[in-house]
Amino acid sequence: MRLDKLLSNMGAGSRKEVKQLLKSGAIQVDGEIVFDPKQHVDTEKQHVLLYGEPVTYQKFVYLMMNKPPGVISATEDKRDQTVIDLLLEDVTYFKPFPVGRLDKDTEGLLLLTNDGSFNHALMSPKKHVEKVYYAEVIGMLTEEDVEEVAEGVTLDDGYKTKPGKLVILEATDETSTLELTITEGKFHQVKRMMLALGKEVSYLKRLSIGQLPLDPTLEAGEYRELTRGELALFD
Ligand code: URA
Repeated sequence: MRLDKLLSNMGAGSRKEVKQLLKSGAIQVDGEIVFDPKQHVDTEKQHVLLYGEPVTYQKFVYLMMNKPPGVISATEDKRDQTVIDLLLEDVTYFKPFPVGRLDKDTEGLLLLTNDGSFNHALMSPKKHVEKVYYAEVIGMLTEEDVEEVAEGVTLDDGYKTKPGKLVILEATDETSTLELTITEGKFHQVKRMMLALGKEVSYLKRLSIGQLPLDPTLEAGEYRELTRGELALFD
């Protein structure tokens, strides 16, 4: 990775500050002062010092992505593009993986990290982290559907879901739009819950996880690091 990228990832300062540090001769790689921000370094093999001290590594990365449709929530796939393929080298360096999964055709908020305990805390069914989805379904949703979801619906495999909150935004004979809040993450859960109500999902987007909403400025396929404040929402 480029030395300037590496240094800012390691918390040595912004890219601009890192440039200044390099210019001032504060950085050594394997005992040699390096001035060129573009120089490539391999942290597994090379030692980087700032003012003679090893630079403390940023160990974990936490990203939010607005997942686009058509992309798989996995680290590798033989056929399809994965969410990892959308990341730039300065973050793939941390070897992040998606926290849970969204279906290939589902859009919206996806977290990625290399922090196993963060992943566990969010995924553990015991934590009851709320996830809010926006969906469009074929057919008309009714107040009875709202009540059924509030009691828990029985999925195709006989599993009864925990109570969810269904808010109907618009309902016509042809289509309905809705927001659904659930605390579980069973395979295809939203689509299967809607099927249990006799409705097929035609569009699905995750809007939030816990207290964290999808940043509306992120276009589909874009991502950014979580802020400290956002990260603290999951403490
Ligand atoms: N529920 C689904 O059915 N699909 C998703 O991608 C997420 C939740």
